[in-house]
Amino acid sequence: MKGINFLHNLYQNICKDTGGQNESSKLIVVVRFLTLTMTLYSLINSFLFLSLSHIGGMILCQVSMVLFIAIFALSYYSPTFISFCILNIYILVWIIFNIIMFGWNIGVQHFIITLLVLCFFAKYRHETAKIIYSLALCALRICLYYYCLKNSPVILLVSGVNNAFQIVNTLAIFWTTALIAYIFSTDTQTLEGKLIEYNEQLKQQANIDPLTGLHNRRSTMEYLDHLLHAPSHQISICMCDIDFFKHVNDTYGHDVGDTVLKKISETFQTELPDNTFLSRWGGEEFLIIFPESNGDKAHIALETLRHKIKAIAFDGGSESFSVSMTFGLVEYDFRSDLTTILKEADKKLYFGKESGRDRIIF
Ligand code: GH3
Ligand code: MG
Ligand code: MG
Repeated sequence: MKGINFLHNLYQNICKDTGGQNESSKLIVVVRFLTLTMTLYSLINSFLFLSLSHIGGMILCQVSMVLFIAIFALSYYSPTFISFCILNIYILVWIIFNIIMFGWNIGVQHFIITLLVLCFFAKYRHETAKIIYSLALCALRICLYYYCLKNSPVILLVSGVNNAFQIVNTLAIFWTTALIAYIFSTDTQTLEGKLIEYNEQLKQQANIDPLTGLHNRRSTMEYLDHLLHAPSHQISICMCDIDFFKHVNDTYGHDVGDTVLKKISETFQTELPDNTFLSRWGGEEFLIIFPESNGDKAHIALETLRHKIKAIAFDGGSESFSVSMTFGLVEYDFRSDLTTILKEADKKLYFGKESGRDRIIF
């Protein structure tokens, strides 16, 4: 239990955010995980040296352990960039020193690849700096290789020992590289998820009228354009408008007017068939599109709707009131263009208003 608590506390501390403003916590978390991994790596190496009775190597690894712990501690007090640079420089020194001491066969040179990956994920460097740094890493690796071709290591290890170090180095390199990629890729995936969600929200906002939740004019035009392009059924289109709505606003206030708009929109949604496309065309004017109905069928649905709307009792404060609507309905003739149909529906609506309101003109 105590062990689990210790690991939990350690994990919380590693993930502690950086003190700097505008700094991502990801890089500092990577720096801390890397320093801890390298501490463990130095500890394992020191045991390896101990088993070989190589006291010099053991002391060296223990010094290295202390230095990695120091960088870990530094990450809590210094800016991320400083800890990041010190870790980079220290690992580079570690690679060069080990290659000179023990040669190419212990595989420590592969840490250069870890540094390369780290450099590309770190957000501090500009693109040019990243390219220059990666070229420098590449050049260093080639130089080290030629150095090893021409010089024998200071300490010659027997093949079995070389293999043991090679395995420890390989494990450390795979672990550190995977860790860097994992931490930064989860960041990218989370960000991607957020962006998709945000895009969906933006799309919704661009297509939906915020007061009524119905489609706005822009998305309605898009829908109609698409629908009339290759119609597979009879289509009916109705332009409708609340009667004397100005009077509602003037008598009961704008807020009550808004409530009427919302309630009427809800009534559209509950009373009309599910596949009906509902749009707030502007102000107190709506466009209702029946994508699979001929005019007669749409007329029946609208007649029911008209009565339902008239039956709603709105709260006007001291009294309740009701509103009526006038509808101009057209059936698509499979020939006319969009503008002509909308004009025709509007004309019928106007005619309905002229001839007394509260009616459907078809
Ligand atoms: P008619 O029967 O001829 O349609 O008369 P009307 O009073 O409904 O028509 P008019 O065009 O004179 O007035 C429409 C009113 O609708 C005026 C405007 O202030 C109001 N209006 C438009 N949009 C909104 C809105 O979002 N909220 C509220 N509360 N009122 C709105
Ligand atoms: Mg009106
Ligand atoms: Mg109007």
